[in-house]
Amino acid sequence: MDTAQPVDPQGFTLSAWERELAELGAPRYRAEQVFSWLHARRATGYAAMTNLPRQLREQLARRLPWRAAAVAGTARSRDGAVKYLFRAEDGAAFEAVFLPAARGASLCVSVQAGCSFACAFCATGRSGFQRNLRAGEILQQVYTLAEAHGLSSYRVLLMGMGEPLANLDATVRALQILRHPRGQALAPRRLTVSTVGLRGRIARLAREVPGVELALSLHFTTQEQRQRYLPAARRFPLPDLFAELSRAESFTKVTLEYLLLAGVNDTAEDAAALAALAHGVVPRARKVEPPARLRSRFRALVTYHVNLIKLNPAAGSPFLPTPYAQAESFQNYLKTAGITATYRRSVGSDIAAACGMLAGQAASAAVGTGGVR
Ligand code: SF4
Repeated sequence: MDTAQPVDPQGFTLSAWERELAELGAPRYRAEQVFSWLHARRATGYAAMTNLPRQLREQLARRLPWRAAAVAGTARSRDGAVKYLFRAEDGAAFEAVFLPAARGASLCVSVQAGCSFACAFCATGRSGFQRNLRAGEILQQVYTLAEAHGLSSYRVLLMGMGEPLANLDATVRALQILRHPRGQALAPRRLTVSTVGLRGRIARLAREVPGVELALSLHFTTQEQRQRYLPAARRFPLPDLFAELSRAESFTKVTLEYLLLAGVNDTAEDAAALAALAHGVVPRARKVEPPARLRSRFRALVTYHVNLIKLNPAAGSPFLPTPYAQAESFQNYLKTAGITATYRRSVGSDIAAACGMLAGQAASAAVGTGGVR
């Protein structure tokens, strides 16, 4: 369903605008004006571009029709998160979530309508795949939420619906535009890309958008478990995945995302294996070791952060969250082993906006959505 994508003017780079406007016989500076209207001032149509001649605005509207998805619904959580359901002209539905925080808001946006990767714990995966989003549709989510909440500074998390590395061209373009000095000029460390890990594409992302943060959806410490619950992992064994990760040095930060599932991946052996992986070492055998010993053994190695996530049970999920006390001792083991490990506060679960809950379907009060990334 991803064939014959319509032209995407909201996702044009500055050089693409220079080419388009040159073909219309407009001077080069007009391209910067259009780009700046779109990406610095977050304009929602050519009519807003009042320093452009009316004739040029009309030419643009004919040549590059404005296509914006409609906001089809919103739902506000008790904790302040707000979920937005977007519906494109072709009916594709995708969701974005405003996440308030004391140190600044984050905007969690989708890169696909649905997802084809079918991870066992994810409502998005169960909802099926509609299509890739265009760069302009990814940006539209960011700008719509930033306008609605009056934000000039914020983080962008590509952690909504879909797998960013499966829609890499649009993902890279959207990130490059968000970083552009004539656009939102977001520092790369304010951009986080979440992925289950696709061979060759982590390296390409690191090359094309250096400095962004990577959140690797690891979730399991053995290849056998990973490929049972994350089908995409079949094509990318753990040793290869960590080898590619170690070569992709331009990320500001790499976080291993780990969804704690009761009785599935929350044992002491898992904690020991995760500590080794967080030091970039794929363990050959599974055994529990005192965490302090791991700490001194891996002292000299690179360390990835670990983000432990509390499961938000979605309808139809066969999993249960790890009890709090056990999650806390899992986290303490990692810390003693020398790992920076956080246990993520979950927001938006009452409106199905938390991790793993986005499904792109308008429910009664809530508009559904979400990917555990
Ligand atoms: S976790 Fe991510 S890759 Fe897996 S099904 Fe959900 S959205 Fe897709």
